[in-house]
Amino acid sequence: MDTASLSAKQRSNIWNSLSRIQQQAIMQLTQFSLRKNVIGQSFNGHDHWRLTKVNIDYNWESRRTGQRAVLTCLCGHPLKYQFELHRLPKQDQQVLLGYACFADYAGIDRDVTRRLRDDVDAIQGEMDYTLSWYIKGRRFPEKSLGLAIDGGAIDGMSDLKQRVTLLRQADFPMNQADNQVVRSLVRAWKKQHQSQPATKRTRAKQPALSRNPEIARIRRQLKTSTRYAVATYTDTLTTLIQAIQADPELQNRRTILRRLSQFSENANRLVKTISTPDAKMLLTLKLHVLQTKQLSVEDFRKLDTWARKFAQVERATAPRRQKTRQSQTTYSGPNLKILRQGKHRFAKDEAIRYQRYIEMTGH
Ligand SMILES: [Zn+2]
Repeated sequence: MDTASLSAKQRSNIWNSLSRIQQQAIMQLTQFSLRKNVIGQSFNGHDHWRLTKVNIDYNWESRRTGQRAVLTCLCGHPLKYQFELHRLPKQDQQVLLGYACFADYAGIDRDVTRRLRDDVDAIQGEMDYTLSWYIKGRRFPEKSLGLAIDGGAIDGMSDLKQRVTLLRQADFPMNQADNQVVRSLVRAWKKQHQSQPATKRTRAKQPALSRNPEIARIRRQLKTSTRYAVATYTDTLTTLIQAIQADPELQNRRTILRRLSQFSENANRLVKTISTPDAKMLLTLKLHVLQTKQLSVEDFRKLDTWARKFAQVERATAPRRQKTRQSQTTYSGPNLKILRQGKHRFAKDEAIRYQRYIEMTGH
């Protein structure tokens, strides 16, 4: 799992040892995740409130006793996390609250705010993960990935690219999920960039394509298997994404690219929900791309139809979604869904969790 938990003391020590650029990277990464997964949240049964901003005191853990807090709750309590709520439809009515005061000042029960807490907790956990691995000596894999990233290997996935750029600038390590996707994209990029000069040199080499071990492998897979591994989907989708990107003729690209990258980033789920014919269709498309070095318009349409249909399936089968605006959340960033599932499994004692959270956030 891509989270860790640091004590206040550890967090403070690491934070103070970081360079300004690194601190800024952490702040930007945090805000990026908050914007994606938390901001805009509404609360079940309290539709007139909307969460519009989360302010964070990053020096919270380092403050001295008696030192005035930067952020406070409406009740006066000092805060690490300050939540800004706006009352609809009048956007000018706002309250600044600590998590503990949602019920008192906005009338929003603790039951309803659990999801907010879990989301913020997961984001904090993700940052702790980055910091703890950094302090253990793990860095951004510049040597193996830098060149391909500069060459545009991850350009098709804007969220991922934004995150990776920040981590890279600060020389922070990537989390496992991002690492997996980036490596898979880089592999595909390298393959494409290594094979291009060869095809230019000799067109006559066409028959050699059938001896391409990957093509042979996919043919075998199509004949013998009905289920495929997560990596197969990640690779397949990556190849298809790149084929779309490489062809300016293909229409409506943005939506399909976004969908495909979501499926790829969330291939663990894809494996569970995709039907065998659909899986074979994807592999067949990849096979075509490998053989012809492009995606035909007809194949593109087929892929688009599938992506549309599958996005609906995904939405319908997504676990435990509250009826909020937030249900449009995409799956990139810290994988909140997986984290949440894990939490529901492990966190039996709600009272302890609440206490721990209050300690972490201040109030
Ligand atoms: Zn308060």
